[in-house]
Amino acid sequence: MPAITGNDYIERIDHLKTCVWIDGALVTGKISEHPAFKGVMKSQAALYDLQHAESLKDVMTYPSPSTGEPVGMSYLQPKTSDDLIKRRAMIQQWAISNNGMMGRSPDYMNTVLMAFASSVNFLKGKENCFPENIIKFYEYARENDVSMTHTFIDPQVNRAKFYFEDTDEPIAAKVMEKNEEGIIIKGARLLATQGGITDEIVVFSAGGIQDKAKSFAFSIPSDSKGLKFVCRDSFVEGDSSFNYPLSSRFEEMDSIVIFDNVLVPWERVFYYDNIEVSNKFMASSSFLPFTLHQAVSRQIVKTEFVLGIVQSIIDTINIVEYQHVQEKASEIIVALETMKALVIKSEIEAKIDEWGFMRPDQTTLQIAINLFPRVYPRFTEIIQLLSASGLMTIPTEKTFQSSIRKDLDQYLQAKSRNAEDRIKIFRLAWDLTMSSFGTRETLYERFFFGDPIKLSSKLYFSYDKEPYVKRVKNFLQE
Ligand SMILES: Cc1cc2nc3c(=O)[nH]c(=O)nc-3n(C[C@H](O)[C@H](O)[C@H](O)COP(=O)(O)OP(=O)(O)OC[C@H]3O[C@@H](n4cnc5c(N)ncnc54)[C@H](O)[C@@H]3O)c2cc1C
Repeated sequence: MPAITGNDYIERIDHLKTCVWIDGALVTGKISEHPAFKGVMKSQAALYDLQHAESLKDVMTYPSPSTGEPVGMSYLQPKTSDDLIKRRAMIQQWAISNNGMMGRSPDYMNTVLMAFASSVNFLKGKENCFPENIIKFYEYARENDVSMTHTFIDPQVNRAKFYFEDTDEPIAAKVMEKNEEGIIIKGARLLATQGGITDEIVVFSAGGIQDKAKSFAFSIPSDSKGLKFVCRDSFVEGDSSFNYPLSSRFEEMDSIVIFDNVLVPWERVFYYDNIEVSNKFMASSSFLPFTLHQAVSRQIVKTEFVLGIVQSIIDTINIVEYQHVQEKASEIIVALETMKALVIKSEIEAKIDEWGFMRPDQTTLQIAINLFPRVYPRFTEIIQLLSASGLMTIPTEKTFQSSIRKDLDQYLQAKSRNAEDRIKIFRLAWDLTMSSFGTRETLYERFFFGDPIKLSSKLYFSYDKEPYVKRVKNFLQE
């Protein structure tokens, strides 16, 4: 089945009956009807439906190289600069429909898989590596529009530099045995956003592996025997989009993944028992440039939305004449235009890589992913500083429907908005920055692409500083 519809997505996930635990109970029945998941699954379904909108077909899909049928554009392996622009247009089209709130909309993992498939030559001829399995899985995912969650990190038990797990029962997921059918995995992994509402889970190591048994990569269906997703509590506080404009629609959920002697069939093993490959594949592959290109494109759309909210607040209570207000809004404009410039620069400076694919410039995108986790928390601070009590003067939808409506209309009106419209804006600002959904969004953007400290170290060590050191040396010799 090429590019699917929203209905196909919902039916497929409901049919899986994945083992999902939330608040001490196993989800039984249709997960798409569960209060914690129905909003986000509906939003995700709307993304898939966009692939079939007549006016967007060429933006959202391209002809499959194997069948000619339309398949999702985020699977496209770019060979030209134009391909990169097409990919960005599609990513941003999807992002606009949730204003960048869904960090793990399907294009994120489609891009990850596309990047791995475009780098499989790195694995060729290496011990316990099966590059052909990545290609087969990539083609299967592309042709069936498979949705994926992922987990790249071990449980947060002991993050000392030289920690080696030494327990009878594994904590971090590892290979317990191999047999004719595949490898058996036991232990846990973090942190699968959208875990339980996707077809598959992709498991890779983010590097730093010291134990052979933990050096593996694979993908398995979410309903695999012994696989459990343990969710945090839901941040959906209600169905009303008046009260909870964001969390009622885009609460993606995060889950701990437990592998209880899960069999990964050989045809789904990408590599195992190879520490060197496990530690080098991500960095040597095109994972960083392609996935960052997707992430930064989404973050731009989110920043545009934040700017829209900030300007709406400024207009609503008429605070535009104050210079500090202009300065704070300008901070967001500067961040937005910087991010836009960086993504375009990464495309202009893209080069064909050793395997024939057009990689956007990695350093430029690393700058963007170092910038965003710093500016995003500041956005939430700016919204709080400009809104002040506005973020607490937010009666609910029911209050507006009650007999005191007249009071609300009188006392909550604002310079350029009636009471109801004013509350809608402030409830949106509250849901973005103060609700449990909103504070999670801030944490998410801080750690979206990993630990920001490690990201800046990576940039520092990969950035070529030598020409500038030489220039200083020459200057001093003059
Ligand atoms: C909302 C949310 C959603 C997420 N979704 C996903 C997902 O879908 N899939 C997935 O795989 N992951 C996901 N993650 C996990 C994310 O990748 C990690 O949070 C990130 O990589 C940081 O790892 P950690 O949380 O284990 O923090 P830790 O590594 O435990 O860091 C804790 C603190 O210790 C410091 N520290 C630890 N080690 C070092 C070191 N070596 N050098 C310097 N400082 C160090 C860190 O800087 C930090 O201050 C998600 C995280 C969040 C918050």
